[in-house]
Amino acid sequence: MAPQRFLITGCNRGIGLELVRQLLEQPNPPKQIFATCRNPNSPQNQVLNDLAAKNPNVVVIPLETTDAKSIQEAVEKVEKHLNGAGLNVLINNAGIMVTTSTLESADEEDFLKVYNTNVVGPLLMAKAFLPLLKKAAQENSEKPLGCSKAALINVSTLLGSIERVPEKFNFAPALSYRCSKAALNMLTRCQSVGYQKDGILCTALHPGWVQTDLGGPQAPLTVEKSVNGIVKVLNNLSEKDSGILVDWEGNTIPW
Ligand code: NDP
Repeated sequence: MAPQRFLITGCNRGIGLELVRQLLEQPNPPKQIFATCRNPNSPQNQVLNDLAAKNPNVVVIPLETTDAKSIQEAVEKVEKHLNGAGLNVLINNAGIMVTTSTLESADEEDFLKVYNTNVVGPLLMAKAFLPLLKKAAQENSEKPLGCSKAALINVSTLLGSIERVPEKFNFAPALSYRCSKAALNMLTRCQSVGYQKDGILCTALHPGWVQTDLGGPQAPLTVEKSVNGIVKVLNNLSEKDSGILVDWEGNTIPW
């Protein structure tokens, strides 16, 4: 059975928005998708708001992932909508990249900003939504580890793989981004061990190099193709995928 209740961060554009769109197109769409974004009333959010207007199972929730107060307010709103049910899948998708960050140019401001968004945000989100993920795991205790039970998905990148640095570093230094996503990978691995007893699958996911504002127009993958693969991967994640980095086609990427 497909997962019933999702929360995704950064849904006003890029991969997050396409995830909402394609989850809705599944033969068995989720009962609830909490599509979060920083500013629901901004004109930038029009496409997501239109999706929510047409699909009552999409609930748009304001959320700045680096702000603990904003996260807490989102938890309270989501709890009201869940009405006693648990949350099956939390996708920490929101992220930023500073392409110009190199060994020469990187500074404190660059590193702290990127780390805050790409690591601290996902950490705070997981802590805040943990009770709701645990609830979903308990409601589905007979099911094996996976998204139909309870899962924490951290959207990471191949660029965070330490083993793969030599082949890609000169092409795309993005130093602060690489370091932050390597830390996110470590966080995911720790979460997978720490939350195993709670029945929550924790996996880092590389969406491919995708044509979004972050990926740029020269990326080989359209957002539709990447997300098509991601949705299939999500539906098939199991215990063997706990605490690893997988790509949009389900291949394991070395740390
Ligand atoms: P986009 O730049 O298109 O979208 C990023 C999203 O994250 C936006 O919705 C943005 O909101 C949101 N966001 C950023 N910071 C915050 C924050 N502090 N609080 C809430 N929302 C925030 O990027 P993509 O869709 O391409 O990227 C999504 C994820 O995929 C990222 O984690 C990225 O690292 C990862 N990824 C992407 C790749 C690619 O090639 N595109 C490759 C590998 C990984 P707002 O509009 O308000 O800024």
